[in-house]
Amino acid sequence: MAKKVIIIGAGPSGVLLAHYLLRRGENYQVDIYERRSDPRVIPFSKSRTFPITLSQRGIKALRKIEGLEEAVKAISLEVTGTIIHQKNGKTSLIARQKPLVSLDRTRLAIALLENLTQKYDDSRLNIHFNCECTQVDFAEKQVKFQNTETKVDFTVDYDLLVGADGARSAVRESFLSIENFECQQKYVPSAYKSIFLPSGNNSEINLQPGKIHSWRLDDTTSVLLLYQPDETISGVVTFPYKQNQVVSLSNAQEVLKFFHQNFPEVGYLMPTSEAEAFVTRTVSRILTIRCNRFHQGDSTLLIGDAAHAVSPSLGQGCNAALEDVVIFDQILDENSDSLAEAVEQFSVRRFPDVHALVEMSDYAFPLSKRLFIEFVLRQRIAKVLHRLFPKHFLPSLFEVISEDTNSYSQVLNYYKDWIAKVKESNKKLTAST
Ligand SMILES: Cc1cc2nc3c(=O)[nH]c(=O)nc-3n(C[C@H](O)[C@H](O)[C@H](O)COP(=O)(O)OP(=O)(O)OC[C@H]3O[C@@H](n4cnc5c(N)ncnc54)[C@H](O)[C@@H]3O)c2cc1C
Repeated sequence: MAKKVIIIGAGPSGVLLAHYLLRRGENYQVDIYERRSDPRVIPFSKSRTFPITLSQRGIKALRKIEGLEEAVKAISLEVTGTIIHQKNGKTSLIARQKPLVSLDRTRLAIALLENLTQKYDDSRLNIHFNCECTQVDFAEKQVKFQNTETKVDFTVDYDLLVGADGARSAVRESFLSIENFECQQKYVPSAYKSIFLPSGNNSEINLQPGKIHSWRLDDTTSVLLLYQPDETISGVVTFPYKQNQVVSLSNAQEVLKFFHQNFPEVGYLMPTSEAEAFVTRTVSRILTIRCNRFHQGDSTLLIGDAAHAVSPSLGQGCNAALEDVVIFDQILDENSDSLAEAVEQFSVRRFPDVHALVEMSDYAFPLSKRLFIEFVLRQRIAKVLHRLFPKHFLPSLFEVISEDTNSYSQVLNYYKDWIAKVKESNKKLTAST
Protein backbone atom coordinates (compact mmCIF):
# COMPACT_ATOMS: atom_id res chain seq x y z
CA MET A 1 0.00 0.00 0.00
CA ALA A 2 1.18 3.57 -0.76
CA LYS A 3 2.78 5.50 2.11
CA LYS A 4 0.64 8.48 3.06
CA VAL A 5 2.91 11.52 3.43
CA ILE A 6 1.59 14.78 4.86
CA ILE A 7 3.79 17.83 4.24
CA ILE A 8 3.00 20.98 6.23
CA GLY A 9 3.99 24.12 4.31
CA ALA A 10 4.16 24.89 0.58
CA GLY A 11 7.42 26.86 0.83
CA PRO A 12 10.58 25.90 -1.09
CA SER A 13 11.52 22.92 1.13
CA GLY A 14 8.01 21.41 1.37
CA VAL A 15 7.30 21.58 -2.36
CA LEU A 16 10.76 20.30 -3.36
CA LEU A 17 10.30 17.36 -0.96
CA ALA A 18 6.99 16.52 -2.69
CA HIS A 19 8.86 16.42 -6.04
CA TYR A 20 11.52 14.07 -4.66
CA LEU A 21 9.06 11.71 -2.92
CA LEU A 22 6.68 11.44 -5.88
CA ARG A 23 9.65 10.76 -8.15
CA ARG A 24 10.41 7.70 -6.01
CA GLY A 25 7.36 5.93 -7.46
CA GLU A 26 3.78 4.87 -6.90
CA ASN A 27 4.39 3.89 -3.28
CA TYR A 28 4.22 7.53 -2.16
CA GLN A 29 0.96 9.50 -1.89
CA VAL A 30 1.57 13.16 -0.96
CA ASP A 31 -0.73 15.78 0.55
CA ILE A 32 0.60 19.31 1.14
CA TYR A 33 -1.25 21.58 3.61
CA GLU A 34 -0.51 25.31 3.44
CA ARG A 35 -2.06 27.91 5.74
CA ARG A 36 -1.97 30.70 3.14
CA SER A 37 -3.92 31.00 -0.13
CA ASP A 38 -2.60 29.58 -3.40
CA PRO A 39 0.19 32.03 -4.43
CA ARG A 40 -0.46 31.14 -8.09
CA VAL A 41 -3.91 32.74 -8.01
CA ILE A 42 -3.77 35.55 -5.43
CA PRO A 43 -2.22 38.96 -6.25
CA PHE A 44 1.48 39.12 -5.45
CA SER A 45 1.99 40.45 -1.89
CA LYS A 46 5.02 42.70 -1.54
CA SER A 47 4.85 42.71 2.26
CA ARG A 48 5.71 39.06 2.57
CA THR A 49 8.41 38.59 0.01
CA PHE A 50 12.07 39.47 -0.60
CA PRO A 51 14.81 38.53 -3.05
CA ILE A 52 17.02 35.55 -2.24
CA THR A 53 20.15 34.16 -3.87
CA LEU A 54 20.76 30.49 -4.56
CA SER A 55 24.26 29.04 -4.84
CA GLN A 56 25.40 25.65 -6.16
CA ARG A 57 23.91 23.90 -3.10
CA GLY A 58 20.39 25.01 -3.86
CA ILE A 59 20.72 24.81 -7.63
CA LYS A 60 22.04 21.23 -7.53
CA ALA A 61 19.03 20.22 -5.42
CA LEU A 62 16.73 21.62 -8.11
CA ARG A 63 18.74 20.03 -10.94
CA LYS A 64 17.85 16.50 -9.86
CA ILE A 65 14.20 17.10 -10.83
CA GLU A 66 13.61 17.31 -14.55
CA GLY A 67 12.84 20.84 -15.74
CA LEU A 68 13.16 22.54 -12.33
CA GLU A 69 16.54 24.22 -12.78
CA GLU A 70 15.38 25.65 -16.13
CA ALA A 71 12.03 26.81 -14.65
CA VAL A 72 13.78 28.58 -11.77
CA LYS A 73 16.53 30.10 -13.92
CA ALA A 74 13.85 31.52 -16.24
CA ILE A 75 12.68 33.74 -13.36
CA SER A 76 16.18 34.50 -11.98
CA LEU A 77 19.18 36.68 -12.75
CA GLU A 78 22.87 35.83 -12.41
CA VAL A 79 24.82 37.68 -9.73
CA THR A 80 28.61 37.86 -10.09
CA GLY A 81 29.58 39.93 -7.06
CA THR A 82 28.70 42.48 -4.40
CA ILE A 83 29.21 46.22 -4.79
CA ILE A 84 29.73 47.98 -1.46
CA HIS A 85 28.58 51.60 -1.64
CA GLN A 86 30.03 54.18 0.73
CA LYS A 87 28.20 57.31 1.82
CA ASN A 88 30.58 59.50 -0.19
CA GLY A 89 29.54 57.74 -3.40
CA LYS A 90 32.69 55.58 -3.67
CA THR A 91 32.17 51.90 -4.43
CA SER A 92 34.19 48.72 -4.16
CA LEU A 93 33.49 45.37 -5.78
CA ILE A 94 33.86 41.94 -4.21
CA ALA A 95 33.65 39.69 -7.28
CA ARG A 96 32.60 36.03 -7.10
CA GLN A 97 34.32 33.15 -8.85
CA LYS A 98 31.04 31.34 -9.40
CA PRO A 99 27.82 33.28 -9.97
CA LEU A 100 24.74 33.04 -7.76
CA VAL A 101 21.19 33.20 -9.08
CA SER A 102 18.86 35.74 -7.55
CA LEU A 103 15.08 35.58 -7.53
CA ASP A 104 12.07 36.39 -5.44
CA ARG A 105 11.26 33.90 -2.60
CA THR A 106 7.55 33.72 -3.49
CA ARG A 107 8.21 33.33 -7.22
CA LEU A 108 10.53 30.40 -6.38
CA ALA A 109 7.69 28.71 -4.45
CA ILE A 110 5.28 29.36 -7.36
CA ALA A 111 7.72 27.87 -9.92
CA LEU A 112 8.16 24.72 -7.79
CA LEU A 113 4.39 24.39 -7.37
CA GLU A 114 3.61 24.89 -11.06
CA ASN A 115 6.14 22.27 -12.11
CA LEU A 116 4.79 19.84 -9.48
CA THR A 117 1.14 20.13 -10.51
CA GLN A 118 2.08 19.78 -14.20
CA LYS A 119 3.75 16.44 -13.42
CA TYR A 120 1.30 14.81 -10.98
CA ASP A 121 -2.49 14.66 -10.85
CA ASP A 122 -4.75 14.25 -7.83
CA SER A 123 -4.41 10.46 -7.88
CA ARG A 124 -1.04 10.91 -6.08
CA LEU A 125 -0.83 14.58 -5.07
CA ASN A 126 -3.26 16.92 -3.34
CA ILE A 127 -2.47 20.47 -2.25
CA HIS A 128 -4.77 22.03 0.34
CA PHE A 129 -4.43 25.81 0.67
CA ASN A 130 -5.93 27.85 3.54
CA CYS A 131 -5.38 24.93 5.92
CA GLU A 132 -3.38 25.66 9.05
CA CYS A 133 -1.77 22.85 11.04
CA THR A 134 -2.69 23.40 14.69
CA GLN A 135 -1.56 20.27 16.55
CA VAL A 136 0.04 16.86 16.14
CA ASP A 137 -0.84 13.65 17.99
CA PHE A 138 2.36 11.61 17.57
CA ALA A 139 1.00 8.49 19.28
CA GLU A 140 -2.09 8.27 17.05
CA LYS A 141 -0.20 9.60 13.95
CA GLN A 142 -2.83 12.24 13.41
CA VAL A 143 -2.50 15.92 12.58
CA LYS A 144 -5.14 18.58 13.26
CA PHE A 145 -5.94 21.48 10.94
CA GLN A 146 -8.21 24.47 10.79
CA ASN A 147 -9.52 25.77 7.49
CA THR A 148 -8.59 29.46 7.72
CA GLU A 149 -11.63 30.55 5.64
CA THR A 150 -14.43 28.40 7.08
CA LYS A 151 -12.81 27.97 10.55
CA VAL A 152 -13.77 24.28 10.38
CA ASP A 153 -11.38 21.93 12.25
CA PHE A 154 -10.45 18.53 10.84
CA THR A 155 -8.00 15.69 11.47
CA VAL A 156 -5.87 13.68 9.04
CA ASP A 157 -3.90 10.39 9.51
CA TYR A 158 -0.35 9.97 8.24
CA ASP A 159 2.43 7.44 7.74
CA LEU A 160 5.02 10.23 7.49
CA LEU A 161 4.49 13.81 8.67
CA VAL A 162 6.99 16.45 7.53
CA GLY A 163 7.05 19.89 9.14
CA ALA A 164 8.29 22.20 6.37
CA ASP A 165 6.35 25.04 7.95
CA GLY A 166 9.08 27.60 8.45
CA ALA A 167 10.76 29.25 11.44
CA ARG A 168 7.50 29.45 13.47
CA SER A 169 6.67 25.79 12.77
CA ALA A 170 3.53 24.37 14.39
CA VAL A 171 4.89 20.84 13.97
CA ARG A 172 8.04 21.78 15.92
CA GLU A 173 5.84 23.43 18.55
CA SER A 174 4.18 20.02 19.11
CA PHE A 175 7.65 18.45 19.63
CA LEU A 176 8.12 20.76 22.65
CA SER A 177 5.71 18.70 24.75
CA ILE A 178 8.00 15.67 24.34
CA GLU A 179 10.77 14.78 26.72
CA ASN A 180 14.36 15.17 25.48
CA PHE A 181 13.47 17.61 22.72
CA GLU A 182 15.39 20.84 23.12
CA CYS A 183 14.99 23.86 20.95
CA GLN A 184 16.53 27.29 21.28
CA GLN A 185 14.58 30.03 19.50
CA LYS A 186 16.31 33.39 19.26
CA TYR A 187 15.45 36.61 17.45
CA VAL A 188 18.44 38.22 15.71
CA PRO A 189 18.97 41.78 16.97
CA SER A 190 17.94 43.29 13.63
CA ALA A 191 14.57 43.52 11.86
CA TYR A 192 13.87 44.24 8.19
CA LYS A 193 11.43 45.80 5.72
CA SER A 194 11.25 44.91 2.03
CA ILE A 195 11.87 47.62 -0.52
CA PHE A 196 10.80 47.76 -4.19
CA LEU A 197 12.13 50.31 -6.68
CA PRO A 198 10.83 50.69 -10.25
CA SER A 199 14.30 50.79 -11.79
CA GLY A 200 18.00 50.60 -10.91
CA ASN A 201 18.89 53.69 -12.88
CA ASN A 202 17.68 57.21 -13.51
CA SER A 203 19.34 60.42 -14.59
CA GLU A 204 21.31 60.65 -11.29
CA ILE A 205 22.08 57.00 -10.52
CA ASN A 206 23.01 53.91 -12.48
CA LEU A 207 23.29 50.74 -10.42
CA GLN A 208 25.20 48.05 -12.27
CA PRO A 209 23.10 44.98 -13.13
CA GLY A 210 24.26 41.49 -12.12
CA LYS A 211 25.52 42.61 -8.70
CA ILE A 212 24.24 42.72 -5.13
CA HIS A 213 24.29 46.39 -4.08
CA SER A 214 25.01 46.97 -0.41
CA TRP A 215 25.15 50.00 1.89
CA ARG A 216 25.81 50.01 5.66
CA LEU A 217 25.75 52.68 8.38
CA ASP A 218 27.84 52.62 11.55
CA ASP A 219 24.81 51.53 13.62
CA THR A 220 24.55 48.43 11.27
CA THR A 221 21.44 49.71 9.45
CA SER A 222 21.96 48.42 5.92
CA VAL A 223 20.32 48.16 2.51
CA LEU A 224 20.72 45.27 0.06
CA LEU A 225 19.30 45.62 -3.44
CA LEU A 226 19.16 43.21 -6.38
CA TYR A 227 17.80 43.51 -9.90
CA GLN A 228 14.79 41.40 -10.84
CA PRO A 229 14.22 39.90 -14.32
CA ASP A 230 11.67 42.65 -15.14
CA GLU A 231 14.46 45.25 -14.55
CA THR A 232 12.89 46.50 -11.34
CA ILE A 233 15.11 46.39 -8.28
CA SER A 234 14.18 45.06 -4.87
CA GLY A 235 15.73 44.14 -1.56
CA VAL A 236 15.60 44.71 2.16
CA VAL A 237 16.44 47.44 4.64
CA THR A 238 17.85 45.82 7.78
CA PHE A 239 18.08 47.78 11.03
CA PRO A 240 18.57 47.22 14.76
CA TYR A 241 15.11 46.35 16.09
CA LYS A 242 15.55 48.47 19.21
CA GLN A 243 16.02 52.22 18.98
CA ASN A 244 16.04 52.63 15.24
CA GLN A 245 14.74 55.49 13.21
CA VAL A 246 13.40 53.28 10.37
CA VAL A 247 10.57 52.01 12.59
CA SER A 248 9.51 55.56 13.47
CA LEU A 249 9.29 56.89 9.89
CA SER A 250 5.62 57.83 9.65
CA ASN A 251 5.06 59.45 6.25
CA ALA A 252 6.49 59.50 2.71
CA GLN A 253 8.44 62.75 3.27
CA GLU A 254 10.20 61.32 6.31
CA VAL A 255 11.04 58.14 4.37
CA LEU A 256 12.49 60.05 1.42
CA LYS A 257 14.49 62.34 3.73
CA PHE A 258 15.87 59.33 5.61
CA PHE A 259 17.05 57.61 2.40
CA HIS A 260 18.45 60.79 0.82
CA GLN A 261 20.46 61.48 4.00
CA ASN A 262 21.70 57.96 4.68
CA PHE A 263 21.52 56.02 1.41
CA PRO A 264 21.51 58.76 -1.27
CA GLU A 265 21.41 56.39 -4.28
CA VAL A 266 18.34 54.64 -2.85
CA GLY A 267 16.70 58.01 -2.13
CA TYR A 268 17.19 59.11 -5.76
CA LEU A 269 15.66 55.90 -7.10
CA MET A 270 12.67 55.89 -4.72
CA PRO A 271 9.40 57.34 -6.07
CA THR A 272 6.90 58.88 -3.63
CA SER A 273 4.53 55.92 -4.18
CA GLU A 274 7.19 53.51 -2.83
CA ALA A 275 7.96 55.86 0.08
CA GLU A 276 4.22 55.79 0.95
CA ALA A 277 4.08 51.99 0.67
CA PHE A 278 7.27 51.66 2.77
CA VAL A 279 5.58 53.37 5.74
CA THR A 280 2.81 50.76 5.94
CA ARG A 281 4.93 47.71 5.04
CA THR A 282 5.35 45.21 7.89
CA VAL A 283 8.47 45.25 10.06
CA SER A 284 9.60 41.60 10.06
CA ARG A 285 11.79 39.92 12.64
CA ILE A 286 14.10 36.98 12.02
CA LEU A 287 13.85 33.99 14.31
CA THR A 288 16.76 31.55 14.42
CA ILE A 289 16.28 27.95 15.52
CA ARG A 290 18.65 25.37 17.03
CA CYS A 291 17.15 21.95 17.87
CA ASN A 292 18.81 18.87 19.31
CA ARG A 293 17.06 16.62 16.75
CA PHE A 294 14.81 16.90 13.70
CA HIS A 295 12.65 13.79 14.04
CA GLN A 296 10.13 12.38 16.48
CA GLY A 297 9.48 8.63 16.79
CA ASP A 298 9.42 6.68 13.55
CA SER A 299 7.28 8.97 11.45
CA THR A 300 7.78 12.71 11.94
CA LEU A 301 10.45 14.98 10.52
CA LEU A 302 11.34 18.68 10.44
CA ILE A 303 13.11 20.17 7.41
CA GLY A 304 14.12 23.62 6.18
CA ASP A 305 13.55 26.66 8.38
CA ALA A 306 11.31 24.60 10.69
CA ALA A 307 14.42 22.62 11.66
CA HIS A 308 17.16 25.24 11.41
CA ALA A 309 16.12 28.80 10.55
CA VAL A 310 19.22 31.00 10.29
CA SER A 311 19.99 34.68 9.93
CA PRO A 312 20.10 35.65 6.22
CA SER A 313 23.62 37.12 6.60
CA LEU A 314 25.32 34.38 4.52
CA GLY A 315 22.36 33.77 2.17
CA GLN A 316 22.20 30.07 3.04
CA GLY A 317 18.76 29.45 4.64
CA CYS A 318 16.99 28.41 1.46
CA ASN A 319 20.06 26.65 0.06
CA ALA A 320 20.24 24.54 3.23
CA ALA A 321 16.47 23.91 3.15
CA LEU A 322 16.72 22.55 -0.41
CA GLU A 323 19.83 20.52 0.49
CA ASP A 324 17.84 18.87 3.34
CA VAL A 325 15.60 17.31 0.70
CA VAL A 326 18.55 15.84 -1.24
CA ILE A 327 19.95 14.35 1.96
CA PHE A 328 16.63 12.82 3.03
CA ASP A 329 16.28 11.32 -0.47
CA GLN A 330 19.78 9.79 -0.22
CA ILE A 331 18.93 8.35 3.19
CA LEU A 332 15.73 6.77 1.80
CA ASP A 333 17.87 5.17 -0.95
CA GLU A 334 20.31 3.79 1.62
CA ASN A 335 17.50 2.42 3.83
CA SER A 336 15.25 0.86 1.16
CA ASP A 337 12.56 3.47 1.85
CA SER A 338 12.19 2.53 5.52
CA LEU A 339 10.66 5.72 6.97
CA ALA A 340 11.50 4.80 10.56
CA GLU A 341 15.20 4.41 9.73
CA ALA A 342 15.25 7.45 7.46
CA VAL A 343 13.81 10.02 9.89
CA GLU A 344 16.24 9.01 12.63
CA GLN A 345 19.20 8.92 10.24
CA PHE A 346 18.30 12.40 9.00
CA SER A 347 18.74 13.83 12.50
CA VAL A 348 22.07 12.04 12.96
CA ARG A 349 23.48 13.05 9.59
CA ARG A 350 22.22 16.63 9.40
CA PHE A 351 22.80 17.73 13.01
CA PRO A 352 26.52 18.74 12.78
CA ASP A 353 26.06 20.58 9.52
CA VAL A 354 23.03 22.64 10.43
CA HIS A 355 24.56 23.59 13.75
CA ALA A 356 27.69 24.73 11.93
CA LEU A 357 25.48 26.76 9.61
CA VAL A 358 23.61 28.44 12.49
CA GLU A 359 26.94 29.32 14.13
CA MET A 360 28.41 30.78 10.94
CA SER A 361 25.25 32.72 10.05
CA ASP A 362 25.20 34.23 13.55
CA TYR A 363 28.86 35.16 13.68
CA ALA A 364 30.36 35.56 10.19
CA PHE A 365 29.42 39.26 10.12
CA PRO A 366 30.87 41.44 12.87
CA LEU A 367 28.84 44.19 14.51
CA SER A 368 31.94 46.31 15.18
CA LYS A 369 32.93 48.75 12.44
CA ARG A 370 36.64 47.94 12.81
CA LEU A 371 36.07 44.20 12.43
CA PHE A 372 33.68 44.79 9.52
CA ILE A 373 36.49 46.58 7.63
CA GLU A 374 38.79 43.66 8.48
CA PHE A 375 36.10 41.28 7.18
CA VAL A 376 35.94 43.07 3.80
CA LEU A 377 39.76 43.13 3.56
CA ARG A 378 39.98 39.44 4.42
CA GLN A 379 37.52 38.63 1.59
CA ARG A 380 39.71 40.53 -0.89
CA ILE A 381 43.01 39.07 0.31
CA ALA A 382 41.58 35.53 0.32
CA LYS A 383 40.50 35.99 -3.29
CA VAL A 384 43.94 37.14 -4.46
CA LEU A 385 45.87 34.53 -2.49
CA HIS A 386 43.58 31.73 -3.65
CA ARG A 387 44.04 32.81 -7.29
CA LEU A 388 47.84 32.80 -6.89
CA PHE A 389 48.25 29.75 -4.64
CA PRO A 390 45.04 27.70 -4.92
CA LYS A 391 46.57 24.70 -3.11
CA HIS A 392 47.54 26.72 -0.04
CA PHE A 393 44.81 29.34 0.40
CA LEU A 394 41.05 28.92 0.51
CA PRO A 395 38.71 31.28 -1.33
CA SER A 396 36.59 33.65 0.78
CA LEU A 397 33.99 32.26 3.20
CA PHE A 398 31.19 33.33 0.83
CA GLU A 399 32.68 31.29 -2.02
CA VAL A 400 33.47 28.22 0.08
CA ILE A 401 30.05 28.06 1.75
CA SER A 402 28.27 28.24 -1.61
CA GLU A 403 29.73 24.96 -2.85
CA ASP A 404 27.90 21.77 -1.96
CA THR A 405 31.23 19.91 -2.10
CA ASN A 406 32.06 21.46 1.31
CA SER A 407 29.77 20.39 4.15
CA TYR A 408 28.83 23.20 6.53
CA SER A 409 30.87 21.55 9.31
CA GLN A 410 33.95 21.52 7.05
CA VAL A 411 33.42 25.22 6.26
CA LEU A 412 33.12 26.04 9.97
CA ASN A 413 36.33 24.13 10.60
CA TYR A 414 38.18 26.17 7.93
CA TYR A 415 36.93 29.50 9.35
CA LYS A 416 36.65 28.65 13.05
CA ASP A 417 39.22 31.27 14.14
CA TRP A 418 37.36 34.09 12.41
CA ILE A 419 33.98 32.93 13.76
CA ALA A 420 35.41 32.73 17.31
CA LYS A 421 36.86 36.24 16.99
CA VAL A 422 33.55 37.75 15.80
CA LYS A 423 31.56 35.84 18.43
CA GLU A 424 33.74 37.29 21.18
CA SER A 425 33.54 40.82 19.76
CA ASN A 426 29.76 40.70 19.10
CA LYS A 427 29.10 39.40 22.62
CA LYS A 428 31.12 42.24 24.16
CA LEU A 429 29.34 44.82 22.03
CA THR A 430 25.81 43.52 22.74
CA ALA A 431 26.60 43.25 26.47
CA SER A 432 27.68 46.91 26.56
CA THR A 433 24.56 48.28 24.75
C1 LIG B 1 15.27 38.92 4.39
C2 LIG B 1 15.64 37.52 4.08
C3 LIG B 1 16.57 37.25 3.07
C4 LIG B 1 16.93 35.93 2.78
N1 LIG B 1 17.86 35.69 1.82
C5 LIG B 1 18.24 34.43 1.53
C6 LIG B 1 19.20 34.16 0.51
O1 LIG B 1 19.72 35.06 -0.13
N2 LIG B 1 19.53 32.86 0.27
C7 LIG B 1 18.99 31.83 0.97
O2 LIG B 1 19.34 30.66 0.72
N3 LIG B 1 18.05 32.04 1.94
C8 LIG B 1 17.67 33.31 2.23
N4 LIG B 1 16.72 33.55 3.19
C9 LIG B 1 16.13 32.39 3.93
C10 LIG B 1 15.01 31.72 3.12
O3 LIG B 1 13.98 32.62 2.80
C11 LIG B 1 14.42 30.56 3.94
O4 LIG B 1 15.47 29.79 4.46
C12 LIG B 1 13.52 29.66 3.09
O5 LIG B 1 12.40 30.39 2.65
C13 LIG B 1 13.09 28.44 3.90
O6 LIG B 1 12.19 27.68 3.18
P1 LIG B 1 11.16 26.72 3.92
O7 LIG B 1 10.35 26.09 2.85
O8 LIG B 1 11.87 25.84 4.86
O9 LIG B 1 10.27 27.69 4.84
P2 LIG B 1 9.35 28.93 4.43
O10 LIG B 1 9.86 29.59 3.19
O11 LIG B 1 9.19 29.76 5.65
O12 LIG B 1 7.94 28.26 4.07
C14 LIG B 1 7.13 27.72 5.09
C15 LIG B 1 5.70 27.59 4.57
O13 LIG B 1 4.91 26.97 5.59
C16 LIG B 1 3.68 27.68 5.73
N5 LIG B 1 3.20 27.48 7.11
C17 LIG B 1 3.71 28.04 8.24
N6 LIG B 1 3.04 27.61 9.31
C18 LIG B 1 2.07 26.77 8.86
C19 LIG B 1 1.04 26.01 9.50
N7 LIG B 1 0.88 26.03 10.86
N8 LIG B 1 0.22 25.25 8.74
C20 LIG B 1 0.38 25.23 7.38
N9 LIG B 1 1.32 25.94 6.71
C21 LIG B 1 2.17 26.69 7.45
C22 LIG B 1 4.05 29.13 5.42
O14 LIG B 1 2.92 29.90 5.05
C23 LIG B 1 5.06 28.94 4.29
O15 LIG B 1 4.44 28.90 3.02
C24 LIG B 1 16.34 34.86 3.50
C25 LIG B 1 15.38 35.13 4.50
C26 LIG B 1 15.05 36.44 4.80
C27 LIG B 1 14.03 36.70 5.88
